[in-house]
Amino acid sequence: MEVKLQNLTKKFPSRDKKKQEDVVAVNDFTFTIPDGKLIGLLGPSGCGKSTTLNLISGLQKPTGGRIFFGSDDVTTLPPEKRGIGLVFQNYALYPHLTVRQNIQFPLGNLKGKNKLSKQEMLDRAVSAAKLVQIEELMDRKPGELSGGQQQRVAIARALVKMPRVLLLDEPLSNLDARLRIQTREEIRRIQRETGITTIFVTHDQEEAMSISDMIVVMKEGIVQQIGRPQQVYDSPANLFVAKFLGTPPINVFQGKVRKGMLYIGEDAVLKLQGADSGEDREVYAAVRPEGFLLQEEGPLHCELSGIEVMGRDISVVSKNSASENPAIRAIIGAENGIHVERMLSAHPEKRTVRFALMPHKVFLFDKETEERIFVNPTEQMNGGRL
Ligand code: ATP
Repeated sequence: MEVKLQNLTKKFPSRDKKKQEDVVAVNDFTFTIPDGKLIGLLGPSGCGKSTTLNLISGLQKPTGGRIFFGSDDVTTLPPEKRGIGLVFQNYALYPHLTVRQNIQFPLGNLKGKNKLSKQEMLDRAVSAAKLVQIEELMDRKPGELSGGQQQRVAIARALVKMPRVLLLDEPLSNLDARLRIQTREEIRRIQRETGITTIFVTHDQEEAMSISDMIVVMKEGIVQQIGRPQQVYDSPANLFVAKFLGTPPINVFQGKVRKGMLYIGEDAVLKLQGADSGEDREVYAAVRPEGFLLQEEGPLHCELSGIEVMGRDISVVSKNSASENPAIRAIIGAENGIHVERMLSAHPEKRTVRFALMPHKVFLFDKETEERIFVNPTEQMNGGRL
């Protein structure tokens, strides 16, 4: 089922009596979610993710705009008439009912031509339970299940009505780290098997990136960027998106462009090509942690603080007076880490590390608007200085 959001807007009256302005929780959101896709709605707390989901579910009414499921305009329909399945963070299971009764519960409300016999209800509950792999737990009560199992029951209950659209609001937040990863993969599998258009709200960028076909990054009610996870990571539209995606986070430097050359501090780090590269200006230069190459003659000089071992990779932690982040984290392969450790033990006094930057891992942003400046950085090996 295709879901079309057309200029969707939700304003709440300000609760602060001194401020008369409304809170714009969702601001002019237009997007068509293709049939059968899993979309991750992503952003920091208060950005309007849950409100967007509540508008799609019908739990809240929009101030402006329209919502279509396929060709049906559902903007004014109540939630029970939209054909949605909802899953929340807190499972919301009935504690006194068994798993079977919990899953079957929504089917009991079906009326008229949709009414099901007892056997049909049971069959539907069993196939939903099989889908989420909890069929052996059918006679237990929620209190006798782990958090991950309870969330599976909640998902089965959302699926049992065969919804047109599945809406998940932070469904993994109550699970521990290992279960979160396992359950998010389960959600992906179930979504693929059922082909139900699914919208998944989370503030966890890694979670959204790992399972979504597309992500929508929001800030203060406004959509910042929509795209495939890798595409958004590789080409962020603005500084907010660049900073929001990626662990460790992107390293942001105060930079300047002079005669087609990008400088970080005094160091000439990259040559620039492209329409905007001729103009001298101050910029933010953001470098992904994997975009640093340790090189003895590398152009960027940093002061080494230490090394963090992360198993497969090593993070070289350093400082630079032009860095916005208190510590710069450069991820390098473990082999290079040995090289750094040797260097450190041979020359404990040598605290300068030098990096070359991978051009495609460096993004420039306007100092005022924080929008991306589209230039093509190219390598600068010789380390010229201002
Ligand atoms: P979180 O991750 O913390 O749940 P969110 O991104 O889901 O955040 P929303 O819950 O959609 O954010 O809230 C968006 C904005 O709208 C916030 O500023 C919030 O304070 C405001 N808001 C949400 N619900 C109401 C309400 N019923 N009345 C007034 N303001 C509201």
